[in-house]
Amino acid sequence: MNMNTKRDRVALSKGLLESERFADVEAKRSEITLEEQNPDAVGWVIEWIYTGELTPPALYKEDTAYETCAEMFKVADYFLLPELRQLLLEHMRNLLCKKAIEWQRAYQDFPREKPRSQYLDWDDVHGVFRGVEVAYRLGLGDLTQMWLDFIRATLYFPLVSAEFNHVLDAAPSFAVDVLRQTVRQNKTLMIELYRVAESCACCGENPLDREGGHFVTMGYGGGQCNRCALKLVLFGGDREIDDEFADLP
Ligand SMILES: [Zn+2]
Repeated sequence: MNMNTKRDRVALSKGLLESERFADVEAKRSEITLEEQNPDAVGWVIEWIYTGELTPPALYKEDTAYETCAEMFKVADYFLLPELRQLLLEHMRNLLCKKAIEWQRAYQDFPREKPRSQYLDWDDVHGVFRGVEVAYRLGLGDLTQMWLDFIRATLYFPLVSAEFNHVLDAAPSFAVDVLRQTVRQNKTLMIELYRVAESCACCGENPLDREGGHFVTMGYGGGQCNRCALKLVLFGGDREIDDEFADLP
């Protein structure tokens, strides 16, 4: 494989030429100029074609995982590689499920005497910042939707975080989408942001004490856990967007 990053020219490997997009041009050319494709991401995709595995270490590091996923996703789209697309979406979803639970816990465990706006620090937010920015800049609808599912699964607590506000600044369209989503779901959002349930109103347990456990809703009743309420979309459920009023007594 021969790559000239300066000119974004990639000598395409035989494997890449086997993708659908190149089926027609294969006979004519062995080298193609890839305008607007990230050369690193093209290299990672070629690796996937050969190994069938998601190999780049950047995909597994908190700081770089989400943006790497987005860059590869764009290349997978370009080359019409549905299997890779699916793999990347699953990888992303697994990461964000863990992250949502982590951020629920951070909110619940944050000392009450400190300002709530400090409950996430920059190290927590940095990777998300880059991931959201890239997904929106590249216009990757499946990923931007997943970020919205993620924010919903965090129960919108990050909106009170000063650091998380940098994410909204970096991707204004994301800010608008989040606002739209909150309005459609729950008009009392701003009140609930300052409520922290410590147990599920149905079973009385704290789901954050269980492996993989998390809250699905927060509300006047205190909140419902993932055993007692319908699954969130991020966690593979199909919880509809307008159903949250049903949780309010
Ligand atoms: Zn419960």
